Amino acid sequence: METKDQKRPETAETPIYGSDKMLTPAPEQYLPQMPTTGEIAYRMVKDETYAQTQPMLNFATFVTTYMDDYATNLMNEAININYIDETEYPRIAKMSGRCINILANLWHTPEKNQWKTGALAGGSSEACMLGGVAAWLRWRDKRKAAGKPYDKPNFVISTGFQVVWEKFAQLWQIEMRTVPLTREKTTLDPEAALKMCDENTICIVPILGVTWTGLNDDVEALDKALEAYNKKTGYDVPIHVDAASGGFIAPFLQPDLKWDFRLKWVLSISTSGHKFGLVYPGLGWVIWKDRQYLPSTMSFSVNYLGAEIAQVGLNFSRPAAQVLGQYYQFIRLGFKGYKDIQYNSMEVTRYAHSEIGKMKQFKNYSPDVVNPLFIWSLDDDYNKKAKWTLFDLQDKLQRSGWMVPAYTLPDNLTDIVVMRIVCRQGTSRDTIDMLLADIRSCVEELEKLEYPTETRISYEKGEKIKHRIFNHGGCRKEKK
Ligand SMILES: *Cc1c(COP(=O)(O)O)cnc(C)c1O
Repeated sequence: METKDQKRPETAETPIYGSDKMLTPAPEQYLPQMPTTGEIAYRMVKDETYAQTQPMLNFATFVTTYMDDYATNLMNEAININYIDETEYPRIAKMSGRCINILANLWHTPEKNQWKTGALAGGSSEACMLGGVAAWLRWRDKRKAAGKPYDKPNFVISTGFQVVWEKFAQLWQIEMRTVPLTREKTTLDPEAALKMCDENTICIVPILGVTWTGLNDDVEALDKALEAYNKKTGYDVPIHVDAASGGFIAPFLQPDLKWDFRLKWVLSISTSGHKFGLVYPGLGWVIWKDRQYLPSTMSFSVNYLGAEIAQVGLNFSRPAAQVLGQYYQFIRLGFKGYKDIQYNSMEVTRYAHSEIGKMKQFKNYSPDVVNPLFIWSLDDDYNKKAKWTLFDLQDKLQRSGWMVPAYTLPDNLTDIVVMRIVCRQGTSRDTIDMLLADIRSCVEELEKLEYPTETRISYEKGEKIKHRIFNHGGCRKEKK
């Protein structure tokens, strides 16, 4: 129905819920013919969002759902600033450069330049792309110079990769070689990774904070194995660390863990400013160990800020607000503040992990909690006689407003259905207690089932479980 047939045209006095517009379906295909009032348009859009999960009850997301009022104001006030207009807003470019410096130093860069080498990104996805492209171009330049073919690049990663790496492989046509994760080998096996490398390998990508499990690949062991491998073969296969989550956890909670630029072959690292960097979406960062590792073809230097700052990125225009948010958090929190917040997220996670571990129906996937998230499955014995799956628990919890995702693990482990909790700034002990109480009572109800649920029947038949698709942090959907 179009508004030109409208009997009662809207005016400034029209009561919102007394308007024809509110009796009309929301536009889905075509631009409405006529304007409406701002209040009515606002309500139509706003009201449509109410049926969704409240961000604070969203235990699926890794992304920031709480910032303090100062940060929120700063970001709202900068909502009309385009980051790319560096001539007009040179201070924002400078703040971005400072954030890059701070992260580079947090990750022990050896770079001596005043402005460390890195880039602002829309999230880890863009940051991973940039790190991957740089590795590809460095490899290609070397192959070209040596007069060798450069048409079959590949990279190596575990099957626990986040979906961005599949995109990277597809968009740039770079072969992705995956090291299987197994029940015994829950993180990237360095030796198995090296077996997949050859002269066409542009890099190996270990993950700090695997999206599927919360675990860390052992970057130090990989670096050590790679040193021997590169010596033996004469190659120089480097490492890009996908530290989307871990890049903001390990430096504060495991300062002695060597995963960053302290390691020889780690040449670039990406992270999400909007995950444990504690900024609202979307913000990512990628840092290179030194200017020499960022191919000049990717970098566009600007010098009107009184210093050379390298400009790298896929987007041209982009919001500036997140840069202000990140810089604010760095100033507001400092090292100690970040440490305290990450410590709390981790303690709350450990508490949830231990309470879940106490339930006879459940089994934690790993005894370790190294990032503020963990997964669990049904206990093996219990699973043999259960009439439900964790997908049913997800549905039940959702009825009380919680989003706690259930999913099957990647290749080789697809028979394991897990459930995941991510704790972030804003997840209090009290919230976790409420969630645990609801989990217990939902399980109690599921235990009373006389007949198996639909997902249980599919599971027993070894079929793909038909379940509502949702984003669980970019774990890949199963291949068709
Ligand atoms: C979340 C995530 C990404 C993608 O990050 P975005 O910031 O959402 O673009 C990449 N890799 C890993 C390991 C992740 O957890």
